[in-house]
Amino acid sequence: MDSTPLSDPGTLSRHSLRGKITLGYYAVAAIILVASLFFVGELRTLEARVVLGQRATDLFNTALEIRRFERNYFLYHQAADLTENGRYIEQAQAMLTANRADFAAIASEARLTQLHTRLNDYQRQISVLAAADPRQFAAAEPRVRQLGQAVVAIAEEMAGTERHQIQTTLASFRSLLLGVIVSMALLIVVIGRALSQRVVKPLKEMETSVAAISANYRETLLAPSNDREILSIIAAFNHMLKELDLRQKSLMRSERMVSLGTMLSGVAHELNNPLSNISTSCQILLEEVGENDAATQKRYLEQIDQQTERARTIVRSLLDFSRERAFRKEAVLLRPLVAQTVGFVRGEVSAKSVVQLSIPDNLSVPADAQRLQQVFVNLIRNAMEGLGPQGRIDIAAQIVQASEPPAGTALGEGCTTKGAMVEIRVTDNGPGIAPDILPRIFDPFFTTKDVGHGMGLGLFVVYEIVDEHGGCIAVQSTPGQGAQFCIRLPVFNLDTQQGAH
Ligand code: ADP
Repeated sequence: MDSTPLSDPGTLSRHSLRGKITLGYYAVAAIILVASLFFVGELRTLEARVVLGQRATDLFNTALEIRRFERNYFLYHQAADLTENGRYIEQAQAMLTANRADFAAIASEARLTQLHTRLNDYQRQISVLAAADPRQFAAAEPRVRQLGQAVVAIAEEMAGTERHQIQTTLASFRSLLLGVIVSMALLIVVIGRALSQRVVKPLKEMETSVAAISANYRETLLAPSNDREILSIIAAFNHMLKELDLRQKSLMRSERMVSLGTMLSGVAHELNNPLSNISTSCQILLEEVGENDAATQKRYLEQIDQQTERARTIVRSLLDFSRERAFRKEAVLLRPLVAQTVGFVRGEVSAKSVVQLSIPDNLSVPADAQRLQQVFVNLIRNAMEGLGPQGRIDIAAQIVQASEPPAGTALGEGCTTKGAMVEIRVTDNGPGIAPDILPRIFDPFFTTKDVGHGMGLGLFVVYEIVDEHGGCIAVQSTPGQGAQFCIRLPVFNLDTQQGAH
C-alpha cells in the first residue's frame, strides 16, 4: 500500500476526496465568475453603443429641427424662426464637436468633416439670408435647402449606421450568450463527471477488491487511489481482516484441541495393540534365549520393528494433526486417512455401534491431509454423539459427475461446480437434526449441546475447510432417522496434475 504521509497538508488537499470535491467547486465557481465578468464587459459595450446611438439620433433630430424652422421662415418670414434655426445650428455644431471622437465609430473622418463643413456653410448662408432683403430669398433658397438636405442626409446616415450596429451587436451578443451558457453547462457536466469518476472509481475498485477477498482470491485490500479517506478506510479494513484472520486461527486452534481430546482415547487404544505385540515378541525372545534358531529370532525382531513403525506412524499422525502449519494441498489417499481417523475417535463409539467404510482403495483427492482429517474427526464425532446402541455410521466415497448442488442445505464455493468431483457421504442413523435448526448448524458457536459439551464450532470449521478446498458441503436429515452430510471436493486436474481449485 502506498505510504503517503498523512501529515503533509499539501498532500492532504491534493490527495483527498474532500480536496477533489472542493477543487471541483472552485473550478465551477471560477467558470461562473469569468463568464459573469465577460458578460458585464459585453453589457458595458452595448450600453456605450446605445448611448452613442442616442447621440446620433439627437443629432439627426436637431438637423430635422433646423430644417423645420428653415421651412417656416421661408413660408412666413418670421424672425423668430430664424433665431430658432440658428440656435439649433449651434446646438448641432456643439454636438458634433463634443462627440467627434465617438462618432468616428459610425462615420468616416471624411464624412464627419463633410458634415462639419456643410453645417458651417449652411450657418453662413442662413446668416446671409437674415441680413438680405426678403425679395432676394428666392435666389438664396435653393442653396440653403441643398445644404440643409445634405446635413440631414449625413445625420440620418449616421443614426442609421448606429442603429444597424446596435442591432448587429445585439444579435452577436445573443449568440454569444447562448454559446457561453451551453459551453458552461457542458463544462460543468464534464467537471461533475470527472469528479464523480475520481470519487466513484476508487470505491468501485474497492468493491471489486472486497469481492475478491470474500472469494478467497486475495488477502488484503489494495489501495485504488492515494486519497486520504480511501487510504484510511483501506488501512482500517486491512487491520480488521488481519484481526479476523488471527481470531479465526485461534478458533481453529481451540477446535483442534477439542478434537485432540476426542482422539486421545482412540490413540491410546491404537497404540495399545503395537505395544502389546512388541511386548509379547520381547517376552518370547527373552524366555527362549539360546533356544531359538537365528531365523525365528529374526522373525520376532522383524515383528518388533514393524510394530514399532506402526506405533511411530500413529504418534506422527497425531503430531501432524496437532501441529499448526500452512495450507498445503497434495494427493491424499482417502481410505487410509478415514480409517485412521475412525481408529482415533473410536474411543467414543459405543461398543455395539458399527462404522462402515465404502471407499475405493485407490481413490485420492487433492487436499491438505491435516485439515481433511479434521473434517472427518468433526463429522464422525458429531455422528457418534447421538448414536444409540444399534448405532451405525456409513462413510462412502466415489467420483460423481456433478450437474447440480447436492440435495439439502448446501454451502461452499464448489456447490456450482459441474463435472467430475469426489463425493464423500457420512451417514448416521442417530436422532437426526430438526428442520428449524438445520439452516443454522454451520454457523459459528451454534450448538444444541449443554454448556461444556460443545463449542458449536465443529461444523463451522468443517465448512471453512471444505470451502478452502473449493468444495461444497450439504446436509440432509429426517428427525429420528439420522443425518447425512455430503461433501464434494474437486478431483485432480489431469492436465496439470493439480487440484481443480
Ligand atoms: P457442537 O458439536 O460443538 O455442538 P457443531 O458445529 O459440530 O458443534 O454442531 C452443531 C450442532 O449441529 C450440534 O449441536 C447438533 O445439534 C447438530 N448436529 C451436527 N451433526 C449432527 C448429527 N450427525 N446428528 C444430529 N445432530 C447433529
